[in-house]
Amino acid sequence: MHEHVVVVGAGIAGATCAWTLAQRGYRVTVLDAGSEPGLGGSGNALAIVYPKLVDAELTPQHLQSMAYLHALERLKAPDLAEHFRATGVLWLDQPRSLRDVDAHHPWWQQHVWRLSAEEASACAGVPLMQSALWLPAAGVIRTHGLLRSLLAPEAIRCVFNARVQAATAQDSHWQVSTTQGNFRADALVLAYAGEAPLSLSEGLPLRPVRGQISQFPANLALRTTLCYGGYLTPAEHGYHCIGATFSPQDRGTDIRPEDNAYNAQALAQVAPQLAAKLPPLSQWRARASLRWQTPDFSPMAGRHDPSLRDALRAHTPRRHRPQLPPSKTPPLFVSLGHGAKGYTQAWVAADVIVDALSGQASRWPEALTQQLDPERFIWREWQRGRLWTPRRARA
Ligand SMILES: Cc1cc2nc3c(=O)[nH]c(=O)nc-3n(C[C@H](O)[C@H](O)[C@H](O)COP(=O)(O)OP(=O)(O)OC[C@H]3O[C@@H](n4cnc5c(N)ncnc54)[C@H](O)[C@@H]3O)c2cc1C
Repeated sequence: MHEHVVVVGAGIAGATCAWTLAQRGYRVTVLDAGSEPGLGGSGNALAIVYPKLVDAELTPQHLQSMAYLHALERLKAPDLAEHFRATGVLWLDQPRSLRDVDAHHPWWQQHVWRLSAEEASACAGVPLMQSALWLPAAGVIRTHGLLRSLLAPEAIRCVFNARVQAATAQDSHWQVSTTQGNFRADALVLAYAGEAPLSLSEGLPLRPVRGQISQFPANLALRTTLCYGGYLTPAEHGYHCIGATFSPQDRGTDIRPEDNAYNAQALAQVAPQLAAKLPPLSQWRARASLRWQTPDFSPMAGRHDPSLRDALRAHTPRRHRPQLPPSKTPPLFVSLGHGAKGYTQAWVAADVIVDALSGQASRWPEALTQQLDPERFIWREWQRGRLWTPRRARA
């Protein structure tokens, strides 16, 4: 068993990994550049846990559907349950959306069903003009409390203000250098969300998407969370959360008044009667941060061999993958690229990683672990002939 695992990043990806590792008997050190957990994308006051619904036949193998049910299970853990509020989510019908989620869907009447506008209004406690899909078990996470509880087990040590600068393989372990000194690890998990500060994650493509979430003083009798492309939550600590903007390739985390106006406008398009009650924007507050997305929008979770790209340079691209010698580097895993769904997906990512580390047979379908495989992008590069380097050029 690999006894001591270093996890880089104390957002939801790193915290769920650390918690799952601690549950399975590992000692864990979490290193984060910030002064507390959740100063990156994971630090909005609330995060919604809800699935992206897909066609009936796709659902059993669908990452987000599986991840949603798994997240709800995990959030029942005695040390975590208090941070989840099952408000239910009403997914408001819009002309192009979700009309094909109907009685053929495997979750129908169990996890999702349709409400008329009158029923949806009664459920939400506010007047709504359109019918909606009702997801009664979905809800909101109070993020800061959850992150603290995930990192609370005795087996977890957190070191803050520790920016990781390098990680090198030394025989069978990792030596991790940070602004707070060096740490030795039997296995390493990278959950630092953003661009690789380390060469270890070269070839794992991520791009930033800025998002601003807004909060306004509570003045609606709203009981459920509304989703409509954007989302609006019931009041928590005197504020409703409304979000969120989506600005690809924008790295700014400054607060922008026009983004608050955008969030208000998105609500006005689907629920003008609610938007009419919004307080003036001067009373709003906001937080902006980055989501990091992969090119195919699925996260990367699993084992990664940092020497794979170089090893593939010697192989001419073919349809089938060549047999490669086993990796000589100590175990390295990543949980990255959670995009707009980290609070739903990070749990399944953590499980896949800890199963692989412990050598336990994965309970997840192979299609899911393949979809999460961090190295899928490197293999695609190779298959497209972008890695192969003739012997003379390699010399
Ligand atoms: C506006 C907005 C609204 C969102 N709403 C939702 C929602 O409702 N539901 C949902 O599920 N998801 C939502 N998301 C997405 C979700 O927030 C992200 O998917 C999630 O935060 C990603 O978590 P993470 O742990 O990968 O990244 P982060 O939370 O960014 O954590 C990465 C951590 O790594 C640390 N770090 C970085 N570099 C280093 C280094 N070199 N050394 C040490 N530490 C380092 C950082 O300090 C940070 O703490 C939203 C995102 C945004 C921007």
